[in-house]
Amino acid sequence: MREVLFLDLARSASSLGAEAHTVFANVLASGRFLFGEHGERFERAFAAYCGAAAGVGVASGTDALRLALLACGVTPGDEVITVANSAMATVAAITSIGARPAFVDVDPATWTMDPAQLPSRLTARTRAILPVHLYGQCADMEPILAFARRRGLAVVEDCAHAHGARYHGRVAGTMGDAGCYSFYPTKNLGAFGDAGMVVTNDLTIAERVRALREYGRASHDLTGLHGYNSRLDELQAAILFLKLERLDAANCRRRAIAQTYARALTDMERSLPYEAPGRYHVYHLYVIRVKDRDGFRARLQEQGVQTHVHYPLALHRHEAYQGVRADTFELPVTDRVHSEVVSLPLYPELSDEEIEAVTDAVRQATAVRV
Ligand SMILES: *Cc1c(COP(=O)(O)O)cnc(C)c1O
Repeated sequence: MREVLFLDLARSASSLGAEAHTVFANVLASGRFLFGEHGERFERAFAAYCGAAAGVGVASGTDALRLALLACGVTPGDEVITVANSAMATVAAITSIGARPAFVDVDPATWTMDPAQLPSRLTARTRAILPVHLYGQCADMEPILAFARRRGLAVVEDCAHAHGARYHGRVAGTMGDAGCYSFYPTKNLGAFGDAGMVVTNDLTIAERVRALREYGRASHDLTGLHGYNSRLDELQAAILFLKLERLDAANCRRRAIAQTYARALTDMERSLPYEAPGRYHVYHLYVIRVKDRDGFRARLQEQGVQTHVHYPLALHRHEAYQGVRADTFELPVTDRVHSEVVSLPLYPELSDEEIEAVTDAVRQATAVRV
């Protein structure tokens, strides 16, 4: 029996072939490893891809979030409204600058931020809203942006799952004040190490992030900004530029696999991912819901199909965040979803044979007769 790996980054890297080697050789020959032409070229190319006025490369997605929050004026003690069903990085970015997360529950269909609950989280210290475009689908941005505008709050988008995702035609990261991307190797656009970017249409925010990533020094009128060291290196930028050309095709393949799963598993339709009207889902993860999760995963593993859980513990349940949390609300939808989610293998290099092995294993594991 052949294993279907949850992810196969070696396969993905080797699909770049000799081009990746050429890219590395060019960077080595240039003798320039930080702040060179590759970084600038990729910043311009990725900002243009998103339709944003500027892109500022940083060292990771977490750094993109925290530098964007700082650039939007979030200060220690401020509250940032976000969701609890996300990666630890989302909340780590908030707490790392001394701000406090206030968790809001999610929409039961898309599992992204529920805009209707935002008013209940507003306090005198609320400074920003941080929606997460979860699993590759944009949060319901229109009502989030409308609420933020009325209340004078910044909106910082967590786009780590959402390279190329769209909301009524607008690309993730260009709707709020800043969009924060991670190029962690597993993401839809992944580097060969750590990398991230802030995209924005606000040139003041872009300039602040540029200063913050380089000890705060970049510009004279920003003295008083406590900076960091958070740079996107030339090797990563060069590889990302090469891979950016293939991003749309890779996302199309992800969507095609998602469609194949949906067609093969129609009996489970209500447990499958839901793409809301007007949204273009890029399926960073294909996450379904099952009641007996441990049993289901064990049965899939018996068939050689690896699965994962994103995420094992909702952020409001983490011990580390009890003391810093700004709200005391229950999050019933988040809790319910979290106890049932399982991620199936979905990546562009998956073969048709492997896709079939996955759907066969799922059908058997759920004993669905078709
Ligand atoms: C991966 C990820 C991040 C952070 O990215 P890093 O590059 O690992 O710092 C932030 N938010 C979400 C939702 C993520 O999945």
